[in-house]
Amino acid sequence: MGRSASEFVAKHVRQIPKSGIRDFFAIASTMKDAVSLGIGEPDFVTPWHIREAAIFALEKGKTSYTDNLGMKSLRVEIAKYVEANFNASYNPDNEILVSVGASEALDVALRAIIEPGDKVMYHAPCFVSYSPSVELCHGVAIPVNTYGKNRFELDIEDVKRAWQPGVKAFIMNFPTNPTGGTATRAQLEELAKFAKEKDFLVISDEIYAELTYEGEHISIASLDGMKDRTIFIHGFSKAFAMTGFRMGYACGPKEIIDAMMKAHQYAIMCASIVSQEAAVEALKNGRKDMEFMREKYRQRRDFIVGRFNEFGMDCFMPRGTFYAFPNIERFKKTSMETAKLILSEAKVAMVPGSAFGSSGEGYLRASFATSYENIIKATDRIAKILPKLEG
Ligand code: PMP
Repeated sequence: MGRSASEFVAKHVRQIPKSGIRDFFAIASTMKDAVSLGIGEPDFVTPWHIREAAIFALEKGKTSYTDNLGMKSLRVEIAKYVEANFNASYNPDNEILVSVGASEALDVALRAIIEPGDKVMYHAPCFVSYSPSVELCHGVAIPVNTYGKNRFELDIEDVKRAWQPGVKAFIMNFPTNPTGGTATRAQLEELAKFAKEKDFLVISDEIYAELTYEGEHISIASLDGMKDRTIFIHGFSKAFAMTGFRMGYACGPKEIIDAMMKAHQYAIMCASIVSQEAAVEALKNGRKDMEFMREKYRQRRDFIVGRFNEFGMDCFMPRGTFYAFPNIERFKKTSMETAKLILSEAKVAMVPGSAFGSSGEGYLRASFATSYENIIKATDRIAKILPKLEG
C-alpha cells in the first residue's frame, strides 16, 4: 500500500489549523435571518468612479499581463501616496511591489526572508494569517501578547521578554485587527531601537491606517534609520472598500523587494491589470470617498461600543479599524461557547476572540463594517438574551 492522500500533505502543513473565522461562518451561513458582525470587509460597494476605471480599462482592451512589479503608473501613485501619508519615500522603480492584496505581500515578504528555523515575532491577538504564514515558510512564530488593560498597545518590555536569539523579523499591525489598538510614536521609537539593537526586520501591515479615529497614524518606516529594516505593507481592501479587487503592495529596501519579486513572479506573475487601473484611480481621486466611509465607521463605532458597555460587555474604544473587541469574561464561558450561544439564541454572528490567538480568549470580535440597522438589530437581540449569557 502506498501513501494515503493525506500522507502526501507535508507534515508542517497538516499541523496548521484552518482559519477559525471560516469555521465559525460556515455555521452562521446555514442560519436564516442571522445578522453578521463577523466579516472583516467593508459593507460599502467600491466607489463608482473606481469601478468605472476598471470598466474603462476593459473597454480600452487592457487585458494583458503587466510588469511583474506592477504597472509603473500605479507604482508612481503609490510612491506619492506613501510619501504624503506615511512620510516614507520609496523609489517606484525598485522599492515597490504591487501584490494580490496585502495578504500576498505578507506571504512573499516571509518567503523572501525566512530560512528554516528562523524566528518571527508578532503581536497577538492579531490577524489570523501571521503565524500560519510563518509556519508555511518553515519559520517559528513567536507571539507577544497585548492586553485590554493596556488598550491593546505594544509594551516594549513584553517584546524584550519574548525575544530570543534567532529572531529575524517582527510582524506588526497597527491599527490592529481584531482589537482596534494603535501605536504611539514613543512606542514605535522604542520598538525601532530594539529592532536595531537585536538586528531584526519589521514587517508593518498598515492596512487599516486610514481608518484611524483618534491620534495620528505613524508608520515605523518613517522613523530614523528604519526604512532599511522595514517592509511596509498596505492595500486597498479596507480604506477604499476594494476587497474583491485583491490589490495590495509592499515597499521596502530594493534588495528585499527584489527577493519578494522572485516569489511573486514565479507564483503569481502580476496582479490583475484591471484591478491595477482601478487602484490608480483610487489613489488619485478616492480620498473623499475614504473620508466619507471613515466617518460612517466612526459613528457606528461610537454606537456599538456604547451598547456593549451598557450590557456589561466591557469594550475598549477602538482607535482604529472597524472592529470592536468586547470582553465577555463575566459570562464565565469561553469565547467560542459565548459566540455559539449568541449565534444560536440571538442569531448574531461574531468571531470568538480565540480565533486570533490564545490571547484573544475572553473577547469577541464584532465588525461594525455593516449598516446601522444591522448593528441596532444585532445589539437589540443580544440585549434580549443577556440572562442566558449570564446563566
Ligand atoms: N492584514 C490585516 C490586518 C487584515 O485584517 C487583512 C484582511 N482582513 C489583510 C491583511 C488582508 O487584506 P487584503 O484583502 O489586502 O489581502
